[in-house]
Amino acid sequence: MIDLKKYEVWFVTGSQHLYGEETLRQVAEHSQIIAEFLDKAAPIPIRVVFKPVVKTPDEIYAICQEANVAPNCVGIITWMHTFSPAKMWIRGLAVLQKPLLHLHTQFNRDIPWSNIDMDFMNLNQSAHGDREFGFIMARMRLNRKIVVGFWQQPDVVEKIAAWSRVAVAAFELKNMKVVRFGDNMRQVAVTDGDKVAAEMTFGMSVNTHGIGDLVAVINQMSDASIDQLITEYNDTYTLMNSLRKGGAQYSSLRDAAKIELGLRAFLEDGGFSAYTDTFEDLHGMTQLPGIASQRLMADGYGFGGEGDWKTSAMVRTMKVMASGLPGGNSFMEDYTYHFNPENPLVLGSHMLEICPSIAAGKPTCEIHPLGIGGKADPVRLVFNAPAGPAINVSLIDMGNRFRLLVNEVEAVAVSEALPKLPVARALWKPMPDMQTGCAAWILAGGAHHTVYSQNLTTSHVEDLADIFGVELVVIDRDTNLRQLKNELRWSESYYR
Ligand code: MN
Repeated sequence: MIDLKKYEVWFVTGSQHLYGEETLRQVAEHSQIIAEFLDKAAPIPIRVVFKPVVKTPDEIYAICQEANVAPNCVGIITWMHTFSPAKMWIRGLAVLQKPLLHLHTQFNRDIPWSNIDMDFMNLNQSAHGDREFGFIMARMRLNRKIVVGFWQQPDVVEKIAAWSRVAVAAFELKNMKVVRFGDNMRQVAVTDGDKVAAEMTFGMSVNTHGIGDLVAVINQMSDASIDQLITEYNDTYTLMNSLRKGGAQYSSLRDAAKIELGLRAFLEDGGFSAYTDTFEDLHGMTQLPGIASQRLMADGYGFGGEGDWKTSAMVRTMKVMASGLPGGNSFMEDYTYHFNPENPLVLGSHMLEICPSIAAGKPTCEIHPLGIGGKADPVRLVFNAPAGPAINVSLIDMGNRFRLLVNEVEAVAVSEALPKLPVARALWKPMPDMQTGCAAWILAGGAHHTVYSQNLTTSHVEDLADIFGVELVVIDRDTNLRQLKNELRWSESYYR
């Protein structure tokens, strides 16, 4: 879907000249072994590239500057095998613009009890060398990821892998182009926001094209390419009878395919990886893009309904982060509740646009009327999302800052048939419980639109918030409303 192997993280080991040539040779050799191990480690989806050991302020400054401009470098991993006096790092860290993971590890897992001597002690000093390095990052108020443990240990590799996914996603977000077809839905507050502040904070650019620009591209799509796409629909989904060739609504399926082809061409030509549309602005279009948006999401594009550009950018960001992992990520909306006290649930869905990457089983391709928008009936994919842990993520604009909000949820299987509900859906229980989870979300100003993820965790979103220095609010098993109220108040003064 999205090729992560073209990205790399640099493995940078700090030391100093005090130890002499032989020790420095060993430092370099050990660093290279660790970097190569991490490069080959299956869970880490990007390249880990060894860089020569840095021993002076000038070398440190140079490697940080080099990392800033290297087109495929998404971050650096630092490790102090020996002691690297941290004032040497000030100038380099002050200019570093890429995310940093501080790996607090040691080349030897165990202390060699019977052989340990002062040569060993001289070489294996990260227990204090990394503390010196940690101090300067704390003193400079720099956000970073800290991973502690022996470098071959699976959970250490997993943590590096998770962070490297976030580093790639952050890199993508910094360069992302989001296109909006039409404005935000009239009068809606949470999907609006400051696009200038968003570009300054995250790097993404968000710009509008009139719907006519898109319609012009859609109208250029050839009958042959529509035929080909309809074959793909037939091969991938179960089509309802009226949509099959000769069926009463076959022409609507052709219209839907034409919209998908046009949208895809527009996004590719413009270098856009995320977009929004709105049912209030479809002038010249036959139907609201349903299956088109669903399939574009499945291919990794960000999407937000009703002009929701923040959620669209987050859908794309999280799809990059999760690339290659089993499970999916989708645009989502908290739609309606099951308030049965025995089994309270949220039914998540949208008018049309839920990504089939989260589907349990083969989706059906259906056509039904849409109550709003005043256009022809749109074609859409209908399916259930499976049971399992998931998160809902919302990015909101608080005026003086952006807030990332996460709610951990437990999805449950959709066991009822729902014969009259013609949209894809997911069912979940919010953590820590229905009443607290929903109250906490509303208290924090979380949107009705979210990114629903089956394969990312709160930790991924936490790393993303740290990389961009934005507020993170987590609603999980430990959430207590009174504590959360205080946390929000304290954050208000922190971000003032
Ligand atoms: Mn919506």
